Amino acid sequence: MSLMPSVAFHTLGCKVNHYETEAIWQLFHKAGYEKTEYEQIADVYVINTCTVTNTGDKKSRQVIRRAIRKNPDAVVCVTGCYAQTSPAEVMAIPGVDIVVGTQDRHKLIDYIEEYRVSREPINGVGNIMKARVYEELDVPSFTDRTRASLKIQEGCNNFCTFCIIPWARGLMRSRQPQDVLEQAEQLVHAGYKEIVLTGIHTGGYGEDMKDYSLADLLADLEKVEGLKRIRISSIEASQITDDVIQVINDSNKIVRHLHVPLQSGSDTVLKRMRRKYTAEFYKERVDRLKKALPGLAVTSDVIVGFPGETDKEFNETADFIRKIGFSELHVFPYSKRTGTPAARMEDQVDDQVKNKRVHYLIELSNQQAKEYASYYEGQVLEMIPEEKDKENPAYLTGYTDNYMKVKVPLDTSMIGEIVKVKIDQAGYPYNIGSFVKAEKDLRKTVTS
Ligand code: SF4
Repeated sequence: MSLMPSVAFHTLGCKVNHYETEAIWQLFHKAGYEKTEYEQIADVYVINTCTVTNTGDKKSRQVIRRAIRKNPDAVVCVTGCYAQTSPAEVMAIPGVDIVVGTQDRHKLIDYIEEYRVSREPINGVGNIMKARVYEELDVPSFTDRTRASLKIQEGCNNFCTFCIIPWARGLMRSRQPQDVLEQAEQLVHAGYKEIVLTGIHTGGYGEDMKDYSLADLLADLEKVEGLKRIRISSIEASQITDDVIQVINDSNKIVRHLHVPLQSGSDTVLKRMRRKYTAEFYKERVDRLKKALPGLAVTSDVIVGFPGETDKEFNETADFIRKIGFSELHVFPYSKRTGTPAARMEDQVDDQVKNKRVHYLIELSNQQAKEYASYYEGQVLEMIPEEKDKENPAYLTGYTDNYMKVKVPLDTSMIGEIVKVKIDQAGYPYNIGSFVKAEKDLRKTVTS
């Protein structure tokens, strides 16, 4: 039996949370812990919680209780967004020992030592609204070997009326350019070909800096030797500046895919949501991008049934989506988030109406996705195989630069490599392709 103390993690919610769990694991690793599965008996449990919807809170509480039941003697630490917004609620769960929000995670190990001596629960949650500096948490490598997330900023200043996130994450804080570049080099060194720039409000990078912008960061990342692909996880229409378009246009590494959250195509709804653009502005930006980058894939999120959404407003959104042509669209029914202005709005939309609208848009989104993919049938694209296909293990699945999911018959040795594949059968949610060439082979051809 190992004498090392063990720690088990459970992460709820978004990519940023998953990223941060990796960072927290690094802290434990350095302190001499070994990692165990969450379902196993561990000395310490860390639950990284989510609060984006009311369901996020509920799920977080369930997962916390599961750890306490599994090993009542373990030290149970709760961190993340739900811990940040509702520390008292979390502390009130019998068996929770340590609560840390979305900052000061580096203090966790010391808190555990302190708790072991005093046996007194510790509330380490501070006022996130006062945080002004990006908190460094190192993630030298990931469990997933093919795509690495690189967090470039924290927080958001937008306060959209449906969203609780600024209260959980605080205001916009950009990571120092030097730290981002060093982390990118480190990831390339660890063997990653693709880096996904992530954050709470990723496209807002630089808004809190004087002489440095997202466009500057992208230009600097372009120079990182050995880095092949750069993906921006999300960017708001208002953040697609002419400089950003120029830098994407000049780049050999930034992929032909942008996720630009829409939320609604109706100006009156956008206003009630307190989004910072009109449908016309959104379209103008996307049109310019598509002109600069033919074949660009634009993916998006839409909320259906926002309080007061009339049939007319819903139809405006559907028409707008038709005009844009997305390569993939995530459709969410509006769900009340306690503590946000939208949850207090009158004229909440009936669930049945919401469901009907959701289905309508999912149908439209599927159509558009198929249409986008069909354009590439017969063409050769670059992809990075990520894993064995679950249905057919002779195939690997992965994504092309323009974010089409492809299944291709390939050996697992190609996982994480850049390969050229021909799209034989276009479709959605995935395409079937055949192997053409690996990048390694291409280089050989060039040098021989
Ligand atoms: S932009 Fe709006 S939806 Fe996105 S994190 Fe900020 S407040 Fe939330």
